[in-house]
Amino acid sequence: MIITDERSRVTATIDLDAEGRQQGYLVVPHSRNESAWGSIRIPITVIARGAGPTILFTAGSHGDEYEGPIALMKLAARLRPEDVSGRVILLPTMNHPAVRAATRLSPIDGLNMNRVFPGRFGGTQTEMIAHYVYHQLVRRADVVVDLHSGGRTLDFVPSVVMHNLEDEELMVRTSAAIRAFGAPVALVLTELDNEGMLDTAVENAGKIFISTELGGAGTATTRTIAIAERGVDNLLRHFRVADGVPVAGDSPSRLMQTPEGSFIASNDEGIYEILADPGTEVRAGDPIGQVHAFEEAGRPPVIYRAPIDGLVYCRHVPGLIRRGDCVAVIATDLPVS
Ligand code: CA
Repeated sequence: MIITDERSRVTATIDLDAEGRQQGYLVVPHSRNESAWGSIRIPITVIARGAGPTILFTAGSHGDEYEGPIALMKLAARLRPEDVSGRVILLPTMNHPAVRAATRLSPIDGLNMNRVFPGRFGGTQTEMIAHYVYHQLVRRADVVVDLHSGGRTLDFVPSVVMHNLEDEELMVRTSAAIRAFGAPVALVLTELDNEGMLDTAVENAGKIFISTELGGAGTATTRTIAIAERGVDNLLRHFRVADGVPVAGDSPSRLMQTPEGSFIASNDEGIYEILADPGTEVRAGDPIGQVHAFEEAGRPPVIYRAPIDGLVYCRHVPGLIRRGDCVAVIATDLPVS
């Protein structure tokens, strides 16, 4: 059950329940030295026509990820009420201050938006936005799609992501949707730490939740943007909000998982040398990358190896690496059931 709480300190300049096309802002109070009665204005678009499901698309939860915001801004510009049966809610820059700063965390309160759900009425700006998104937008939605990428510090094989769910019926419906998305990889992910994620909040409410990891490295490519746009259109078709059938990618999505032991963390600090790019098939023991201790010349680098057979699913991006940073994640094929 979703916890409903009508109170919010965030207000919308549009009627979320009106038919037709509504384009406006979520207004978040932000009193500060530069603007005593100031606010943050987060663009929101709602396109609704007649009966049908409500799909909420969000992106920009982390401000240094670009495929999602680009795909949703383009969709907001082109989608017309006559294209829709039901309702599409688009929030391309959900953590707007972080998007403006091009940072993962909010520059206002230092918070990671995807660790504060379901938000707090009396909280900081990031918590206020999360509180509104959960209590006003998720409450209205049948399906929630939160588009992510790797940001400045990770780069992924473009993928659509769901979690292992205890609710079998929800698992089957979500699994069908991620196959329809049409990304090269469809991943069933086990999170390192899922507390405070939008994912968990939506799943606990018994609703379909779909996420992505579409690329990263603090930018986007023509390929990853095309995958994002096709995936968003495919979900609209899959849930019958738009006409037509989902368009397949170049090949069917490869169904994968991240088993225990698939995350590789650095125990060293120095210059990172990648030895296996994302998308490389590796065997247990194959070198993935190595760390050069930049304070010591003449010392051999520390090699990081694949702990299991599989596909290099993501890589560490910055040229320097620190202890505790994610070096890479190895994904394995899901057993055919
Ligand atoms: Ca992210």
